[in-house]
Amino acid sequence: MPHCVVCAITSGQLEAHVVFENRHIVCFLDHMPINEGHILLCPREHLADITDLPDGLLAELMLAAKALANKLQGCLKCDGVSLLQNNGRFNELGHFHLHLFPRFQDDGFSWVSRGSRLAGREALARVDDLLRNAGD
Ligand SMILES: [Zn+2]
Repeated sequence: MPHCVVCAITSGQLEAHVVFENRHIVCFLDHMPINEGHILLCPREHLADITDLPDGLLAELMLAAKALANKLQGCLKCDGVSLLQNNGRFNELGHFHLHLFPRFQDDGFSWVSRGSRLAGREALARVDDLLRNAGD
């Protein structure tokens, strides 16, 4: 069995509830959902971070997210959906995966749980300048 749990699922060696798949991507239910209906969208190939993905593969994953978001909203009558993707040391699986999960009023999930605050104009301008000068 592959060392990577996502590769074990995409190769069929580990069971999962696959909700969509094609030659390049596999989408399955997260066994530790933030909300019921939480889906992980993954490339079949073992690629770690968003910067490793060819543009066409990334586009394919986002189009699958769009289609699955539409299905979630239709099937689960959720109030919306959220997308989340972690990289580097925050990629807990080591294999690229895009989280898509339904949202419900008062579900308790919050993007500001760690105390996000308004950034000052100077801070915004500094980061803006860094990004503009970073090149492609
Ligand atoms: Zn993998």
